[in-house]
Amino acid sequence: MCSHFCMLYYLENTKLIECRTCGHSRYKPMTGRGRTLVILRKLRYFLITLRLQRLFMSSKTIAHVTWHQSHDIVDEVMVHPSDSEGWKHFNNVHPQFSMKTKNVHLGLYINRFNPFGSFAAFYSCWSVIPTVYKLSTGMCLKPEFMFLSKVIPDPNSPNQNIDVYLRPLIDELKYLWSSRTLNYDVSRK
Ligand SMILES: [Zn+2]
Repeated sequence: MCSHFCMLYYLENTKLIECRTCGHSRYKPMTGRGRTLVILRKLRYFLITLRLQRLFMSSKTIAHVTWHQSHDIVDEVMVHPSDSEGWKHFNNVHPQFSMKTKNVHLGLYINRFNPFGSFAAFYSCWSVIPTVYKLSTGMCLKPEFMFLSKVIPDPNSPNQNIDVYLRPLIDELKYLWSSRTLNYDVSRK
C-alpha cells in the first residue's frame, strides 16, 4: 500500500511503482549495491471464505449456524443481533437472502493494538475482524469465530482511509454475495 495510506497496489494498480494520489514511491530508495526492491508499507489481508466454509463442514458448528432462529425472546429484550431492527430491516430488503437459513450475517470489528507491547506507543496497528453473528451469543464473540481479516500498519486512526483499507474485504464479500459459493454441508451430506 502507499506509505501515505492513499491507495493499494492491488488489481488494476498492481504494476504501479508510484502512488496515483500523492506520487510517493512504492519502494524504499535503493542504496549501495543492493538491487532488491523493498516495499515501504504492507497491508496484510487474510481471506475469510475458507473459514466461513469450515463452519458448515464441521458437525460441531453446523447446528449453531441456525441458532438465531430458535432462541427465546424474553420481554422483547434484545439478546442477539438477530433481534435488532437493523437485522429485520436487512431481511425485509433482501428476502431471498434471509429465506436461506444458512446464509451468514457478519459483524465487523476494527480494533487498535500494539504487537510490540514493550514500546511506548499504545498502538501501532489496526486489525479488521469479521465475526459470524448467526452463531449463538456465547459463540459469536469467541476468538475462534472472529476471523482476523486484515492487519493495517497505521499508528493513526484509519477513519479517513477506511475505504482504501477495506477494499479487498469488500471485494471478497461482493464475490460471495454474487457467486453463491458452493459448499459442503455436513448436516445434509
Ligand atoms: Zn499516496
